[in-house]
Amino acid sequence: MKNLREWFSTMTLGQTKLYIKLWLWCLFDSFVVSIPYAVLVMAVYVLLIPIASPGMALPTDRIWILMGILIAQFIAYLFVRKKSYLDFCIGFAGATKVSRIQMGEHLRKLSMGFFSNRDAGDLSTVLLRDYTEIETFAQQMLPQVATILVRFSIAVIVLSAFDVRMMAAVFIVIPLAFPFAFISMKKMEKEGALLQSSQQHTASGILEYVGGIRTLKAFNMAGEHFETLKNTLDTQRKAAISIETRAAAPVSMIGRFILNCGIGLVMLVGSGLMVTGKLQVFYYIAFLLLTLTIYDPVLLLFTFIADLTRTTRSGKRIRALFEEKPLPENNVGRKPSGTAIEFKDVSFGYGNKEVLHHIDLSFTEKSVTALVGPSGSGKSTITRLIARFWDSDSGEICMGGVPVWDLTTEELLGNISMVFQDVYLFKDTIEANIRMGRSDATHEEVVEAAKKAACHDFIMALPDGYDTMVGEGGSTLSGGEKQRISIARALLKDAPVILLDEATSSLDPENEVLIQQAISELVRDKTVIVIAHRLRSVSNADQIVVLKDGSIAEKGDHESLLKMGGIYAGLWNEQSHAGSWQIK
Ligand code: ADP
Repeated sequence: MKNLREWFSTMTLGQTKLYIKLWLWCLFDSFVVSIPYAVLVMAVYVLLIPIASPGMALPTDRIWILMGILIAQFIAYLFVRKKSYLDFCIGFAGATKVSRIQMGEHLRKLSMGFFSNRDAGDLSTVLLRDYTEIETFAQQMLPQVATILVRFSIAVIVLSAFDVRMMAAVFIVIPLAFPFAFISMKKMEKEGALLQSSQQHTASGILEYVGGIRTLKAFNMAGEHFETLKNTLDTQRKAAISIETRAAAPVSMIGRFILNCGIGLVMLVGSGLMVTGKLQVFYYIAFLLLTLTIYDPVLLLFTFIADLTRTTRSGKRIRALFEEKPLPENNVGRKPSGTAIEFKDVSFGYGNKEVLHHIDLSFTEKSVTALVGPSGSGKSTITRLIARFWDSDSGEICMGGVPVWDLTTEELLGNISMVFQDVYLFKDTIEANIRMGRSDATHEEVVEAAKKAACHDFIMALPDGYDTMVGEGGSTLSGGEKQRISIARALLKDAPVILLDEATSSLDPENEVLIQQAISELVRDKTVIVIAHRLRSVSNADQIVVLKDGSIAEKGDHESLLKMGGIYAGLWNEQSHAGSWQIK
């Protein structure tokens, strides 16, 4: 019982109450829809008696009553259908919408570790296909079950009142057909798992292919990689064909065959009884008519039973995603006093490999700290831990004296602006993309931020100015322009802590000057942590931290580090010379 309740809750996305209410309407709806069948049977009855008894007048008054019932049924049908069908579709589409939004919120609270362990195809399969499966189940199968229940109940009551032997002839074949539905369900389970995993591989393959198309083109490797994608698509095609030919089609054919035998049986038993005078012609016709109305939904039910495992798997995957634990927020509600950041004996690893070892580091409020060091030394990891993309394995990271895990996500991320190298622009207008920094900003504030970030001029030169649509990922803008847009976002947000990843790829001198200018605007009076690749740009920083293999190797300002003559001094010398290299 508990399992059934849990299953139902999974399949209704936790909206059991709403669903039961809508489903009761469906039951009522099915009842109203079944009335014409009853009228049909009554009409046969009313007409057959005068035909069978010569000289008797046709009971026109009764026929008019039946017509009246049909008209009343139609009017009732309109009202009930509006309530049941529309409410059902709208109600459940609403429930899926709410659940999808909740899922979006939930995903936002998960650690980045979760996302790096799942591939994008897998997640998009859950968000798109699994939800669609559940929606279809909710909107089609459950109303169908309501219809079957109502028709069965009416048929059992009416037919058993007519003739128990005939009723047995109608129903006897149904249990015979059920085992086949269950065999198909088992087959579907196996074939469905294969289809689902191949669909997921295809989704990942397509995302990877499209995402990497530039590299593939550049290295003229498209053919080779397309081969992999083609193979995945081929596996999916085979799985789809197999599910139809091995699981779905045989069962619906066998089901249909058995039910046809049922019709034959009703005809045989009926004629036998009629010939021996044990059944009146009216009852015989009534049974033939009603048999069809019972068998049709049974056939549909078979298809749904076969689909049930697949749909249940979709429901379980949605549920499992909801059960992923978000980053814990312990004693939330504490307010940080200021924005000084402190690492106290922090160690961290992605999985088993520790990449930061016992880091003790203070970032004074409204000061600039530069993180330098070779690639892979842990610079980005430090900024990710501050923003709680991951939680450290040991030690404590505090902002304004409060551990970051005691701040709500809103409070923590509200205090931080991040400017990354790989800027993502959403498929929306430039203005909307900048406004992501602060959703309630006015147009004037957006323009002001764009001006400070040296974006205004290039935006005005675009065909629709601030209303110009940018492509997914921002593909229609240059790297430098995208970066300035992301600085405008951060300026608009005006958060007191700035995490900045300096661009590694060299920009053209004009872009570089503009970006430097935008960054100077951004970091004014802020607590700034900048991952620096070119030492020249951070030589004025209040503190420079040199990382090596996940530990702090040196710390100080530019002058003191040069005097120390260690790693920093070496890198500085290297980069000073690198400035003058040329191709011979
Ligand atoms: P840096 O920013 O100094 O180049 P990172 O902080 O990005 O260095 O990386 C530190 C170490 O952590 C590297 O060895 C890198 O391979 C590893 N690393 C970074 N990101 C991940 C990740 N998402 N999963 C696993 N390992 C990672």
